[in-house]
Amino acid sequence: MTAALIDGKAVSAQVLEEVRQRVAACVAKGVTPTLAVVLVGDDPASQIYVRNKGRRAAEVGIATRDHRLGAKETTTESLLELVAQLDADPEVDGILVQLPLPGHIDADAVLLAIDPAKDVDGFHPDNLGRLVLGKPRFVPCTPAGCMRLLQEAGVDPAGKRALVIGRSTIVGKPMAHLLLAANATVTIAHSRTTNLAEEVSRADIVVAAVGRAHLVRGEWIKPGAAVIDVGMNRLDTGKLAGDVDFEGARQRAGAITPVPGGVGPMTIAGLMANVVRSAESRVG
Ligand code: NAP
Repeated sequence: MTAALIDGKAVSAQVLEEVRQRVAACVAKGVTPTLAVVLVGDDPASQIYVRNKGRRAAEVGIATRDHRLGAKETTTESLLELVAQLDADPEVDGILVQLPLPGHIDADAVLLAIDPAKDVDGFHPDNLGRLVLGKPRFVPCTPAGCMRLLQEAGVDPAGKRALVIGRSTIVGKPMAHLLLAANATVTIAHSRTTNLAEEVSRADIVVAAVGRAHLVRGEWIKPGAAVIDVGMNRLDTGKLAGDVDFEGARQRAGAITPVPGGVGPMTIAGLMANVVRSAESRVG
């Protein structure tokens, strides 16, 4: 069997087109969806992410307000002040504080200060709590993208065994809750899991979010399983690789995401969808 490829580029283009239409509907009612982006310091990867988010936003008609702050001049207090201003600004629909923040800043305090109704990353405890309660508002963008990819691949999680590898707050944990809400029987694996191969071989759906190239071996995959690879690992050759041995896994899986071109493009699309959703609530 050779797995069907789940094309994240194509699906994200579809999501962005839906967003573009919803943005246009907001603008027609006098509301321009607006995302405030806060970047502290000059981490090169963060600068690339922020630039890409700005580009995508412009493409779909979302306005952005950039706040680029020097690491040295910025304190937890000054950042909290900025977040309070953005919280109070009625024209700002979404606030994104790019992570990681420099070590001297209390990142938890900053994320807690974001108004949950503008927390388009979905990382605020209020939004994560709603997700756990099965009443989501803003869902973290990467797991939301994974769910959309499963849907587009025709995979209904109901009644299936799903394995999420990784338990981070931004990917693994919310992913597990989304699968649970979709009626899968969910297992979460992590660095202390003793027999990962066995867990993988039982799973109808595997979501790998670890950050270790080719950790999941192709021969572990249950024939016909759906494999969503969140991992983005830079190899010594400079190439990007996922957490799954793609070539091996595609011989057994029913459907699989490539890296790059799978989950990656879905994350920014999900962010844009959250911003327009917030703006729609301003429209009323
Ligand atoms: P993270 O916070 O570092 O979490 C990694 C998780 O993997 C942890 O829960 C860790 O377990 C677990 N783990 C480590 N070694 C393991 C092993 N040998 N077996 C099983 N589990 C193991 O990472 P993250 O932020 O969730 O990101 C995960 C990957 O996704 C990274 O490659 C990242 O670049 C990528 N990512 C991609 C996107 C995208 O848009 N495509 C978005 C976000 C992240 P413990 O909890 O026990 O330490």
